[in-house]
Amino acid sequence: MKWSIKIARIAGIEVRLHLTFLLFLAWIGFSYYQLGGATAATRGVVFLLALFGCVLLHEFGHALAARGFGIRTPDITLLPIGGVARLQRMPDNPWQELIIALAGPLVNVVIAAVLIFALGQHLQWERLGGLNQPGIAMLAKLASVNIGLVLFNLIPAFPMDGGRVLRALLALALPYSRATHIAAGVGQALSLVFGIVGLFANPMLILIAFFIFLGAQQEAALAQMKDITLGAPVSEATGTHWMRLPPHARLDDAAEALLRTSQDEFPVVDDSGRVLGVLTRDDVVTALNRRRPSAPGREFMRRDLPVVSAHEPFEEVFP
Ligand SMILES: [Zn+2]
Repeated sequence: MKWSIKIARIAGIEVRLHLTFLLFLAWIGFSYYQLGGATAATRGVVFLLALFGCVLLHEFGHALAARGFGIRTPDITLLPIGGVARLQRMPDNPWQELIIALAGPLVNVVIAAVLIFALGQHLQWERLGGLNQPGIAMLAKLASVNIGLVLFNLIPAFPMDGGRVLRALLALALPYSRATHIAAGVGQALSLVFGIVGLFANPMLILIAFFIFLGAQQEAALAQMKDITLGAPVSEATGTHWMRLPPHARLDDAAEALLRTSQDEFPVVDDSGRVLGVLTRDDVVTALNRRRPSAPGREFMRRDLPVVSAHEPFEEVFP
């Protein structure tokens, strides 16, 4: 993900922080500072960090459950709207998808239960003491926010975990694409309800409705592609009419080819038909800013390209 920095590596998974998250943190600190000075600002920031610690643990729940089924998670990124664990692939088995989807919210259930238990113990000891210590209030708030996270994530709509849970449950009895279709339909119906309620109640709901609508659409499109390409080899999904460039092509030849065709990538091919590399639109534009148009194009082409053979199954190559 662009604009994110690596902050840690835990259990082989890179933890990244999106730069907008830092802005969000600064904004929270500043708003609390204006409300109640440095103490309020510190409390606001500490609470937010604790909250995102819970979100991070939630994502680790997904990632470690996926690892149990041999699916790697290269990284987890924290954004102001939540966390994203980038799983290498989605499991094909509905039981596995169900367990991976539930593992995240389950982490928040455990956190909330531990906090509530600890608070209960504490309150019994301190029944006569002051109940309004800020630390205790913050833990109580953290417990309730974790319950909120569980409820929010279990809304049965993509991209929430609940959407995956619903699809997995349906897929136990129905074909995968049919299950996705129904789950996406439920999600879009919910987004409509959220949108209408949001108009009259809370504008935040309109934003959530928008995310759900996009999530449902994306998931349905992915499932449809999976369905169409099932069992097809790479060659069936490959374009065959490519404008090629000779090894001696200059930058202005490449620029002209860009203008004349709708292609964004140009294979540079020698006389015997061997692909030497690929010149992309970005490469050509960047090169033209720095070099004369008569400079040789092959100096700017990419050579470190992954190669797949034509008969490999599409669904294995695509990810
Ligand atoms: Zn989740």
